[in-house]
Amino acid sequence: MKNNFFVVTLRKKKIVYFMLALLALVILLLTAGELQNKRYDTLGNNYKKIAMVFIQRQPRVMKGQVAIIIDDFGNLGNGTKEMLAIDRPLTCAIIPFLPYTKEDAVLAHGNGHEIIIHIPMEPHVGNPKWLGEKGITTNLSTEQIKTIIREAVEEVPFAVGVNNHMGSKATEDSRVMAAIIQVVKENNMYIVDSKTSINSVVKKIAEEYNVPILERAVFLDNEKSVGAIKKQLKTLGELAIKDGSAIGIGHVGPEGGIITATAIKEMIPQLEKMGIEIVPVSHLTK
Ligand SMILES: [Zn+2]
Repeated sequence: MKNNFFVVTLRKKKIVYFMLALLALVILLLTAGELQNKRYDTLGNNYKKIAMVFIQRQPRVMKGQVAIIIDDFGNLGNGTKEMLAIDRPLTCAIIPFLPYTKEDAVLAHGNGHEIIIHIPMEPHVGNPKWLGEKGITTNLSTEQIKTIIREAVEEVPFAVGVNNHMGSKATEDSRVMAAIIQVVKENNMYIVDSKTSINSVVKKIAEEYNVPILERAVFLDNEKSVGAIKKQLKTLGELAIKDGSAIGIGHVGPEGGIITATAIKEMIPQLEKMGIEIVPVSHLTK
């Protein structure tokens, strides 16, 4: 059916052309006005912003996952505040039975970080006092060890895993590690071997008990300078790209602190540019 609306006379056509010309003029004037008021610039900037947001929201190509464990919380040590302020999920290893054990765990959890228990274990060399009152030494009975680990689980709120503080001697001892790992299993936790001994049996025993086990790839702050720690973080990122994931360990307190926190904060953009996603350790146990 023919629509009468489109059947126009020549005169009507002229009116339409006139109206169109008028409309064009109005648009031209408005645009000029906008230019004068610099509204055009604002519009331009807004388009730029929208474009930036679009580019930023494009999914990055993820090439590897990195988990960063920070040891030695529980003392309100140097760098605690700076470390907890990092806005990527860290895994905070908290020493039990210390004055700030609970406080540090609650703070770290509140800041979105993962919590694990940093179990003091006997080293080959070192001051036994470093272990505190309830360190795991190889002269303890299996039941004594289990009791201490169960108490530690009660001491550290929100904990989902454990790792070792020192422990070059204890982690070589199958009986000692079996006692610890049985309690880890009771609590559905994972264990990370910090690998303070090349003869560690942690992986072997954890696998026997079917407990999720991960190992530290890189110590971040053996050399205490921002530059050196950033270099270690880059190495960690490269390992993660090669292997799919990698775990680094840094410290609060005298072994790292603000320097380590600064290096991590400065390296996050570079790591993410490399295609690294920073995840809590629990993301790597699946
Ligand atoms: Zn430690």
